[in-house]
Amino acid sequence: MLISVTLLIAILILLIIVFNLNKKVMHLNKKLSSYNEIAISSEKNNLLSKLLSLSFESESLTLQARKMCTVLIDYYNFDYCTIFTSDSRGELNIIATNVSNRYINDIEIYANDVIKTIDDTKLGKIIYSDHFLDYPSASSRCIKYFQILPLISRAKLIGTLMIESNNESILEGYEIDFFNIVVENITILLQNFIFNDKLIKAAMVDGLTGVNNRNCMDKELKNILNLHKLSNSTFSIAILDIDHFKKFNDIYGHAFGDIVLKNVAQFINSNIRPEDTVYRYGGEEFVICFPKAYSRDIYYRVDEIREMLSQLQLKNSGIITSVTASFGIAEYPLHGDNIEGLIKKADKALYYSKKSGRNKVTLYDSSI
Ligand code: GH3
Ligand code: MG
Ligand code: MG
Repeated sequence: MLISVTLLIAILILLIIVFNLNKKVMHLNKKLSSYNEIAISSEKNNLLSKLLSLSFESESLTLQARKMCTVLIDYYNFDYCTIFTSDSRGELNIIATNVSNRYINDIEIYANDVIKTIDDTKLGKIIYSDHFLDYPSASSRCIKYFQILPLISRAKLIGTLMIESNNESILEGYEIDFFNIVVENITILLQNFIFNDKLIKAAMVDGLTGVNNRNCMDKELKNILNLHKLSNSTFSIAILDIDHFKKFNDIYGHAFGDIVLKNVAQFINSNIRPEDTVYRYGGEEFVICFPKAYSRDIYYRVDEIREMLSQLQLKNSGIITSVTASFGIAEYPLHGDNIEGLIKKADKALYYSKKSGRNKVTLYDSSI
């Protein structure tokens, strides 16, 4: 009897101990899971703050988009991330991607095709398979998961986010809700970057002629000088001044003078190589920069432009006339190791062209 009472008491004590232990384990578990939640949410906060902090940097649109891709790839382990912006015709153009250059044309065409098929613009489109997908370059890059998300701001498609992965599924359950928040933030950021980019571009372009302005010239020539200094290489600049430009204003009026300026600027812009740049220096004077070029070679190219310009017919409101310009050329580092010095030398050569009859090209020389 005594034994069974003792046994009963022992069992009771054991039960109480187990119950308490269980309570403690449950409490610990709860604590652990709340720590886990805190850890996950701090990771999420980290991702959002990394994305949002990009808006404090004054970088170019493409660089900002590239950084957004890197942040997303780091957090989600996507294999490929591509950001497109939508142009005025609604076409998507890649501005940032980690897909190899040889595939990006195909990707761009494919994304444009897919985005047109998406009805519910909020959801985007996801394709996945346990085999490699079969759109251009997907199988050669071992893509099993593809997601394309239109980025919509104020009911307008401003861009698109494209994600590709070598795993079948990368976003699951609650992750998808958070991903939607991330996408909303990316849309706002991209809209801001596009807006900023427009402002910067507008501040760099001359309103009348459409070519780069003096402000842009000051910035770009400084960079070009630094690059050539670093690579120990040569570049040349030319200054041109329209001959007797005042007569267009005086004879046909200021508005016609403006048309002459615009025509000359556009003519030069379309007759230089893609690597060369023309800037409106002021009034009826322009500067052309020829990277990685010797002045003796540039002399012939500039003289060709001068000759073609002199044959150009300017027609407006029944007026038909022609225009000529005088040019001066200087070379880095032969004629100067800073921009101001080079422009001074090119200007001196230009003055020599004017003095010796106009419609001429002069290469700077210390004897002129
Ligand atoms: P030269 O052959 O010696 O260069 O003679 P020029 O007549 O070209 O030179 P000048 O410096 O005497 O005159 C330049 C004129 O360009 C004076 C100025 O009113 C005019 N001009 C400057 N900017 C503009 C502009 O934006 N539009 C118009 N229509 N005229 C301008
Ligand atoms: Mg002038
Ligand atoms: Mg002039």
